[in-house]
Amino acid sequence: MSRIAKTPNTINRHHVNPAAIRVVEHLRRADFEAYIVGGAVRDLILGGQPKDFDVATNAKPEEIKALFRRARVIGRRFQIVHVRDGKDIIEVTTYRGPHDSDGSLKSASQQSAQGLLLRDNVYGTLEQDAARRDLTINAMYYDPVSETILDQIDGSSDIAARLIRVIGDPEKRYREDPVRMLRVARFAAKLQFDIETKTEAAIGECATLLGEIPPPRLFDEFLKLFMAGHGKPTLLLLLHHGLLDSLCPEAASLIEREPRYKALVTNAMGNTDLRVQEGRPVTPAFLLAALLWPALQNRANTLVDQGEAPLQAIHSAGQQVIAETCLHMAIPRRFSFPVREIWELQPRLERKQPRKIKDLLANRRFRAAYDLLLLRADSPEPLDGIGDFWEQQQQKYPELVGSAPPQPDDRPPRRRRPRRNRNP
Ligand code: ATP
Ligand code: MG
Repeated sequence: MSRIAKTPNTINRHHVNPAAIRVVEHLRRADFEAYIVGGAVRDLILGGQPKDFDVATNAKPEEIKALFRRARVIGRRFQIVHVRDGKDIIEVTTYRGPHDSDGSLKSASQQSAQGLLLRDNVYGTLEQDAARRDLTINAMYYDPVSETILDQIDGSSDIAARLIRVIGDPEKRYREDPVRMLRVARFAAKLQFDIETKTEAAIGECATLLGEIPPPRLFDEFLKLFMAGHGKPTLLLLLHHGLLDSLCPEAASLIEREPRYKALVTNAMGNTDLRVQEGRPVTPAFLLAALLWPALQNRANTLVDQGEAPLQAIHSAGQQVIAETCLHMAIPRRFSFPVREIWELQPRLERKQPRKIKDLLANRRFRAAYDLLLLRADSPEPLDGIGDFWEQQQQKYPELVGSAPPQPDDRPPRRRRPRRNRNP
C-alpha cells in the first residue's frame, strides 16, 4: 500500500463534510478502521465539492448500526448502512473481499452463469476493497485525521493523466457488473477524461450484457447519466460505444441513423445541461420525451400510413413506446404520464387552431411541449413558423401559460428514499 502525502492545495479540508469526518472518528474510537472513499476523494483531489460522502470501514453492517443512534442497514444484494447526521446521510460500507476467496458463504456471494454478481456481501480488507471498486480514480481512501490518501491502485496517476481505467481485467469486471460500462461513459463525460484503451476496447464485447440488468436499476442509471449537467457529452459517448441501445434500443437506432434525430436529442441534452448549470429545475419527463421522440414519431407515422388519425396515432404509439422502453429501463408512472402528455400536445400545437389557443397555452405541459416543438423545428422538421406563432401567443397571453389547475389524475410525486442500486 502506498501512502501519498496530501499536498496543501489538492484537498481542501473545508470541502470535506464535517458529518463524514464525525462518522470516521466515531468508528475509529470503537477501534475500527474508517476512511472517506470513492467519488468524494476523486472530486476532492480534482478540487471540486463532492455531492455526497461515502465511508468505508472494516466494521460489519450490524456493528456499524450498533454504534450510531440513527443508522439503517439497506440493500440486500449490496448491504450498506445509512448513518444520519443532522440533514446529512453518510453511506457507510464494509470493506468487500473477492468472491472466490475460501469460505465465502453462498448466502453472501452469488454469481450468475455469465459471471454477473447477484449478491456481494463478502467482506475483506481495505486492499481487497480497493481492488473490487470500479475505476482506479474511484478507489482512493482519504484519512481526514492525518490528512493522507491511501492509493494502492494508483488512482492519482490516472487522475493526473486524466484517464478512466477499470480496475483489473475490464471484460471480467464488465461481466460481473455491466453497469460499470455506463459508469465509464458517465465519468469520462463528466470529468472530460479519456478512456484507457483496454477499458474502452472491452465495451464492444460486453455492451449487450446490459440486457441482464433489472430495468429499475437502469432507470436510476439513466437519471445519473442525463440529469447531472453533462447529458450531452454523455449521450455522444454512449452513442459512440453503442451503449444507448441498452436503455432505449428503438430510439437509439433511429438516432444513430438519422442526423435530424441526433440533432434533436443532443440539443435537448445540451439545453438541460445549461439549466442544471444555472441551477434551474429540470424534469426527467422532458428529457425522456425528447430522447424517445424518434421512436414515437416513427411508430406514429406508421400508424397514420395505416389509416389512423394523427391524434390517435400519437396516443397509441405513446403507449407502445413507453411499454417497450420499460422492458429496458423502468420509467415510473409519475414520469411516463407527463411524457405522453408532452407528445400528445405536439399535433395540437402544430394545428394552431384559433379556438384552442387559450386552452393549449393553459395546459400544464405547454412549456415542455413547446420546448420539444422548438427542438423539432430546429432539427430540422418542416414546421414553418411554428415557433414564432407560439412565441407570439405566449406574449399575448402571458398569464395563461401553464395556468390550468392539476387534473384529478395528477398524483403528487412520491418521495423516494435514496436507493442504493449497484453491484460491487
Ligand atoms: P458520484 O456519486 O459522483 O456519481 P461516485 O464515484 O461516488 O460518483 P457512487 O455510485 O456514489 O459513485 O459509488 C461510490 C463508490 O462505490 C464509487 O466511487 C466506487 O468506488 C464504488 N462503486 C460504485 N458502483 C460500483 C460498481 N458498479 N462496481 C464497483 N464499484 C462501484
Ligand atoms: Mg457517490
